[in-house]
Amino acid sequence: MIPKTLTSGRLFLLCRILPDNNTRTAVGDSCGSANCTHVSNVRTEIIDLQFLGYPLAIASYLLDDGADAALVEVGATSTAETLLREVQARGVPLERVRHLIVTHIHLDHAGALGWLLQRLPNATAYVHPVGAPHLMDPSRLIASASRLYGEMMERLWGAVVPVPQERLRIVRDGERVEAAGRTLLAIDTPGHARHHHSYLDEATGTLFAGDVAGVRMPGTTYVRPPTPPPELDIEAWQASLAKLRKLPIQQLALTHFGMFDDVARHLNELETRLIDWGQFTRALIEQGVSDGELMQRLRDYGNAEMQQQGADPNSYDLGAGYELIALGYARYWRKKLGLA
Ligand SMILES: [Zn+2]
Repeated sequence: MIPKTLTSGRLFLLCRILPDNNTRTAVGDSCGSANCTHVSNVRTEIIDLQFLGYPLAIASYLLDDGADAALVEVGATSTAETLLREVQARGVPLERVRHLIVTHIHLDHAGALGWLLQRLPNATAYVHPVGAPHLMDPSRLIASASRLYGEMMERLWGAVVPVPQERLRIVRDGERVEAAGRTLLAIDTPGHARHHHSYLDEATGTLFAGDVAGVRMPGTTYVRPPTPPPELDIEAWQASLAKLRKLPIQQLALTHFGMFDDVARHLNELETRLIDWGQFTRALIEQGVSDGELMQRLRDYGNAEMQQQGADPNSYDLGAGYELIALGYARYWRKKLGLA
């Protein structure tokens, strides 16, 4: 089980004076005075979005300091009612939610943004520059997802509502976002997708990793690389992991699913498997196997690994199923090997 309150009880001064420059966003100054002695709990809580009714599939992280609240990852519109209910159940009024920060624009992370902005009057969405145009006009995002999910689109994700430009803030690599009583450093981390940021809470060393740090279930050590088409880039992913290793990360906050503090081991396992599965799939692609066979062979291969580490294969499939993993590698290799 994951404790609902991950970090709480730390006292922080709310009214820090924020330097007024381009790389910072000063928000949530609830006191308006440099002499303010208001203190508040700065807390981070995980919300299980109960995707399709299943626990431990998609997480959203609620950041709150008592005056200003943020969500890191918002899930899909299909789970947005659950998200708002869970936010309020934690004592956070919807008016307090001012920041909707997504690591990337895939529908399981950011699909609810447009819908949520209609219900959160004070919220702004924060997104990677490459993802921003596809939130304002989601037609290509929807078309791309429809190729993968077909008739399941609506049931899985719900409606994808466009994000109005004036409610969207583009965040660049190295930029710091001030939200909910803390500073979040944006780190461009492509590999899973080109439009991917990770966010480091510099005070606590918590990295909101999105999908670049893989998929892992609570209580296990096994890390699965989520490699969907069309943007899997193994070299870029390795460079992103190298970048993360240089940062003072104390714990990984994964969207699929939860917090883990064995950071170096986790990242090493992910990179090793990303490459190993790359070699495994490359050999099969070179032999000319079908997508269906590739998926089946990878499933057998991966599930055998998982059994060795005592992990339950089924629990990983909602976060990163073999079908999309195999299709991602297949596209990557066919393009790279000139077989496309
Ligand atoms: Zn994901």
